[in-house]
Amino acid sequence: MSLNAESTAFRSALEVIRAVEPRVADAIGAELADQRESLKLIASENYASPATLLTMGNWFSDKYAEGTVGRRFYAGCQNVDTVEALAAEHAKELFGASHAYVQPHSGIDANLVAFWAILADRVESPALKKAQVRHVNDLTEADWFALRRELGDQRMLGMSLDAGGHLTHGFRPNISGKMFDQRSYGTDPATGLIDYDRVAEAAREFKPLILVAGYSAYPRKVNFRIMREIADSVGATFMVDMAHFAGLVAGKVFTGDFDPVPHAHIVTTTTHKSLRGPRGGMVLCGPELADQVDRGCPMVLGGPLPHVMAAKAVALAEARRPDFADYAQRIVDNAQALAEGLLRRGTTLVTGGTDNHLVLLDVSSYGLTGRQAEQALLDSGIVTNRNAVPQDRNGAWYTSGIRIGTPALTTRGLGTAEMDVTAELIHTVLSQTTPGANADGTPSKAKYVLDPATADKISKQATDLLATFPLYPTITLT
Ligand code: PLP
Repeated sequence: MSLNAESTAFRSALEVIRAVEPRVADAIGAELADQRESLKLIASENYASPATLLTMGNWFSDKYAEGTVGRRFYAGCQNVDTVEALAAEHAKELFGASHAYVQPHSGIDANLVAFWAILADRVESPALKKAQVRHVNDLTEADWFALRRELGDQRMLGMSLDAGGHLTHGFRPNISGKMFDQRSYGTDPATGLIDYDRVAEAAREFKPLILVAGYSAYPRKVNFRIMREIADSVGATFMVDMAHFAGLVAGKVFTGDFDPVPHAHIVTTTTHKSLRGPRGGMVLCGPELADQVDRGCPMVLGGPLPHVMAAKAVALAEARRPDFADYAQRIVDNAQALAEGLLRRGTTLVTGGTDNHLVLLDVSSYGLTGRQAEQALLDSGIVTNRNAVPQDRNGAWYTSGIRIGTPALTTRGLGTAEMDVTAELIHTVLSQTTPGANADGTPSKAKYVLDPATADKISKQATDLLATFPLYPTITLT
């Protein structure tokens, strides 16, 4: 393919958009410029390929396709069938799963599909059987009432938020917390690591229907074989949310006990984080849960997004290429180099390092809250996000942590030497930032003081660092 094909495609698209609403075309162009200039260390973000991006901008978006491949509630879905089947096939091959459901619009949606598939399998199906009917519509009012109460009275055990778990793993602000009676397992305060004996103890006491593993901010591997043994010992369904580290599973960096697919009953993921696909979600499972999973739409999902499923097929095909394994390994090498660079400069890291794509800084050692650190870094051209650390004294809003991750910078081509420079930039900003005060003189958890000249200097150094690694090098918009 000629290098110009990608530029031509995006330029033409912008021209077409500009003719209708120039401000949108301008914003799209500005977003590319901003992304090119910032040192993106958001652990959950990446840069999808031009092919993946282009696959989303077309008439597939217009098609309704409720149902599954070959079984649609709408006519004329033959081409949607093609892309959905391709995406599922690539996912199954890539992850070694027997079933893949590629319709979820996001990670949250994938988790909802999984929860309801498990509830349908473990609670609804036995109730139908007991009542000797095939369909919920055939239940008596009394049986339906009893089933609804039973569905709403199930238990989930997941990782606590401050240990790195995700809101969708049974926490009250999310629908999962309203659906399930939830308890959390944390990490060992001394090491920051999951203590499997404590998880087993919690499972024995609580007897959850679902044991969830997976995280947004835990910088270590999880032993899924042990977690499955714990689930089995209490009759729980073992679910893994690999949204963050799916790319490391796809790239065979996480294998054996650390690959969730052979150990979990059901695995959910996003497709846009380390997996580097379009924004979206996916569910993998064995034959036992496949039928229930396939009912995700209309159970909890709106109509499938064919353009995004097509883009998932493209991104998954990319992830099956040998160079993706190299990419996945470089993500981890870079995260470890960044962690080592920070440790050498005296930064406190949760668990003292990383085995995956993310590093969690405890910025209280700099005398800052996560919010102050996040904003000071942003002023200096370094994009991160604040995050709670275990036993966080500043709560979930201000936090004491900064989460950084390497999938995006690794896609740009930065390597371990650049990670050391990045560590230096981060350390300089944090060590030169001081907490600010409120108008009445009391200490503020949000305000901070950073000399603008320092912020500008670091911003310039960040831009210089990125200059050798252009983002989307084949694309010029002007
Ligand atoms: N699960 C985990 C572990 C996540 O980290 C996230 C997002 O950050 C999600 C689910 C939700 O993904 P989405 O934003 O696509 O709904």
